[in-house]
Amino acid sequence: MTARYYIMLGAPGAGKGTQAKQISEELGLPHISSGDLFRHHLGEGTELGVLAKKFMDSGELVPDDVTIGMVQERLEQDDCSEGAILDGFPRTPAQAEAIELLADQLGGKVAKALYLDVNKALLVERLSGRWVCPDGHVYHTVYHPPKKPGICDIDGLELYQRDDDKKETVEHRITVYLEQTAPLIAYYRERGTLATVDGDQDIEQVQQSLLQEIG
Ligand code: ADP
Ligand code: ADP
Repeated sequence: MTARYYIMLGAPGAGKGTQAKQISEELGLPHISSGDLFRHHLGEGTELGVLAKKFMDSGELVPDDVTIGMVQERLEQDDCSEGAILDGFPRTPAQAEAIELLADQLGGKVAKALYLDVNKALLVERLSGRWVCPDGHVYHTVYHPPKKPGICDIDGLELYQRDDDKKETVEHRITVYLEQTAPLIAYYRERGTLATVDGDQDIEQVQQSLLQEIG
C-alpha cells in the first residue's frame, strides 16, 4: 500500500494536536508532532534538545536542517510504513519541499494538507488555557477540561502548562507563523491538495469536518 502523509496546517493553538490525535486513531496512522519530538529531546537532554531549546523558548523556528533531519529519522521507523499524520511539520517552504521528496523516497505521497482556519482572538484564548500531558494529549481549562484536574484522562500522567504558552511568546509565535508558515497555504492550494476547515467550531465539529475532507 502507498504510504499516505496528512499534514495539519494552522497557527499555534489552532487545534492541530487535538485533531491529529483523533484522526490518527480513526485512520490507524501514527501522530507525528515535531513539537513533541523536540520536547522529548529537550527532556532527555540530547544534543539536539539543547540546540532546539533556545529557539523554542523565544518562539522562533528551529533551523530547517535540524528539523528535517529529526522528522526524517522518525518517518523512517517501521510504524510509519503506511504514512503518518504530521502535526507542526512542515512549517517553512524548505520543509514542505523536504516532505515531498521524503514521501517519494518512502514510496508514498502527501495525501492532503488539512488547514485549520482559526480567528486570531481565539488562538490566544486557547493557548492561555492549554494544559498538556508528557505524552502529547491536550486539554483546555474551559473547552476540554480533564476529568480530574491536572491529570491526563488517558494515561494518568501529570499535566503541565508549556513555558512558551505565556502571552509574550504566544504573540511572537503567531507572528512567526504568519511570516514563515502561512505561505504554505498557497503552496498546497496550488498543488491541489489543500482542504480548509473552519477551526473556530467546537472540537467535535472540527473533527467531523476534517473526516469529511479526508473522505
Ligand atoms: P504549536 O502549539 O505552536 O503548534 P509546537 O509544539 O508545534 O507548537 O512547536 C513548539 C516549538 O517547537 C515551535 O515554536 C518551534 O520552536 C519548534 N518547532 C516545532 N515544529 C517545528 C518545525 N516544523 N520547524 C521549526 N521549529 C519547530
Ligand atoms: P495546536 O497543536 O494547533 O497548537 P492544540 O491542539 O494544542 O493546538 O490546541 C490548543 C488549545 O485549544 C488546547 O488547550 C485545546 O484543548 C484547545 N482546543 C483545540 N481545539 C479546540 C476547539 N475546536 N475549540 C476550543 N478549544 C480547542
